[in-house]
Amino acid sequence: MPTSHRSEAFANPLLQHWVQPYGLPPFRELDAAHFGPALDHALEQHRNEIDAIANRVDPPTFDNTLATLDASGRLLNRISLLFHNMTASETSPALQAAQREIAPLLAAHDSAMYMHPTLFARIDTLHAQRHALGLDSDQLRLLERVHLDFTRAGARLDGVARARYSAVMAELATLHTRFIQNVLAEEAAYALELRTEVDLAGLPDFVRAAARSAAQQRGLGDDVYAITLSPSLAEPFLIYSSRRDLRETLWRARTARGAHEGEHDNRPVAAEIMALRQEQAALHGFASYADYELVDRMAGKTTAVLDLLQQAWEPAKAHAEVDRQALTEMARALGEPTPMAAWDWRYLAHKVRAQRFDLDDAEVKPYFSLDAMIAAMFDCAGRLFGLRFVEQHGIALHHSDARLWEVRGADDALVGIFIGDNFARSTKRSGAWMSVFRSQSGHSGGTLPIVINNNNFAKASPTLLSFDDVRTLFHEFGHGLHGLLSNVRYERLAGTRVLRDFVELPSQLFENWALEPEVLQRHARHYQTGEPLPAALLDKLLRARRFDQAWATIQYTGPALIDMALHALPNGTPVDVAAFEAEQCAKLGIPEDIGQRHYLAHFQHLFASSGYAAGYYVYMWAEVLEADGFAAFTETGDAFDATTAERLLRTIYSTGNSQEPAEAYRAFRGRDPQVLPMLHKRGLLSGEVHVPI
Ligand SMILES: [Zn+2]
Repeated sequence: MPTSHRSEAFANPLLQHWVQPYGLPPFRELDAAHFGPALDHALEQHRNEIDAIANRVDPPTFDNTLATLDASGRLLNRISLLFHNMTASETSPALQAAQREIAPLLAAHDSAMYMHPTLFARIDTLHAQRHALGLDSDQLRLLERVHLDFTRAGARLDGVARARYSAVMAELATLHTRFIQNVLAEEAAYALELRTEVDLAGLPDFVRAAARSAAQQRGLGDDVYAITLSPSLAEPFLIYSSRRDLRETLWRARTARGAHEGEHDNRPVAAEIMALRQEQAALHGFASYADYELVDRMAGKTTAVLDLLQQAWEPAKAHAEVDRQALTEMARALGEPTPMAAWDWRYLAHKVRAQRFDLDDAEVKPYFSLDAMIAAMFDCAGRLFGLRFVEQHGIALHHSDARLWEVRGADDALVGIFIGDNFARSTKRSGAWMSVFRSQSGHSGGTLPIVINNNNFAKASPTLLSFDDVRTLFHEFGHGLHGLLSNVRYERLAGTRVLRDFVELPSQLFENWALEPEVLQRHARHYQTGEPLPAALLDKLLRARRFDQAWATIQYTGPALIDMALHALPNGTPVDVAAFEAEQCAKLGIPEDIGQRHYLAHFQHLFASSGYAAGYYVYMWAEVLEADGFAAFTETGDAFDATTAERLLRTIYSTGNSQEPAEAYRAFRGRDPQVLPMLHKRGLLSGEVHVPI
């Protein structure tokens, strides 16, 4: 390293010892310009570590190859995790420019590692002898997992194919970055500005307050209300606004994200991504990208996925027809035009729900303040897993809205750090997600996890959540617990680094406790009076919770089916994203008045990385496990049954990827999962029609 570069490295806070509490990143000194040089240094260090393993002259052993590889790259990990978290939660033009440069470099580094011939030769030798090595079960799992990681990333390719594969991976990284940045740019640029009482017609106080705060954040002036594309504002607007024309404007703006001609057009980006994925699958000898992806999933084959989705799809369409009739009657009663359009469904469904269940959401809302619901989720984690959350103040984080808690377990020992970043802002990706700054490894007393949950709730004082928001909060916290409770030896097997169709089990399972009457009675308290949610209101809320499930099922299952169809196209099929989507909508018969939760030009699950490509179905897959799994608690008559909770912790939340997921589930439930509880939960069993109560 030249001297000037070296002195730069020493001045770079990312490369110095992180002296902040808990080993947190040096947020105060952080600058976008630090990442490039710091990552250069960390990449070089990791390359040296890898070469040292690969170039050993002694025969490979589990310790000198697998365990050493698992422990390598710690500097690179902590800097790249920080970088990913910053670009997702608090980005800037400078960070975005850095992201465009760095994403392909990281992809190239991964390719170089996975296709390192002598390193793979050692792993391959060990893999061939794996049953004769006397390994513990987690060591055997690590060996099999890492061997698979290498082969799936091109370790067996050679010559031209090897070079091409690594070029494809780097191009994909660049395109994924462009896709994310385009969505963010379109979301940041849009606001539906409301200026008069006529514009605000139908909007309750909490929506007005959130819209006011969004306008202020964007510097739009004191007399303006802004509806952004963030679901925490856009969804309530579509539910409450009685201005049909404005609902249509907003609905169209949301659906068209990423599909405008010009510099942020994601349609050609998605088409290029598809071409490269097909090429990737072909290099591996698979007929389609879906075939390549599903080999490493619980589902295994596209047919298993389609079987499951179909079990929900047709019944949901039939049930939606029943709901459609009720909504149409409501539209007539209100003098609204029929047939309905997609921007009418939420509005009319809300009216029908209010009438059918005598439920006024504005009456419910004050009982669901964000702070009360955070206390509720912590309380559930305490009762189930013995955790205690102690907030710490005055510690520098990536944004002043983020909060930090010490997580304490048995004997008050520190088990990890939890960071909550709950509010929407234009520098943050939309949606909700869990991530880590540091992963657990090395069993108790080893490296403690630093977990972050991101939500996009509209900030207000106080922030009041919808019931859906509460479920999202609990969902992400379920992922958070999966990261925090992880207790494994090897980092590759820690926390959420499990198969994609298993990863949503801990998160979706945890949503169940948000709906427990006992939890709501204790925590859903009026933010002004402190009064608990009245029993009659709670009862109505619980009775109404399966209402409009057909709509929700269609909104989700449509995109899941389109995702599978898209990725199952035989290699070499050119894709016109818009035409393909239109054709699939027609073929599936996606009702126009319902539409889809995501459209391809902004479908970040599919195109922000390859993580959920041919994988949007995983939510329903995990829902099968979750609905069947939660029944283990209800069967005891106690949602907090201590024996079941202990088994859940031991078999699911603490084990990461140290055992095969189907085995982990059987260890928890004593048998394989059944689909019925999921269909029942969604009200989709044949003959199960929701009649007015
Ligand atoms: Zn999730």
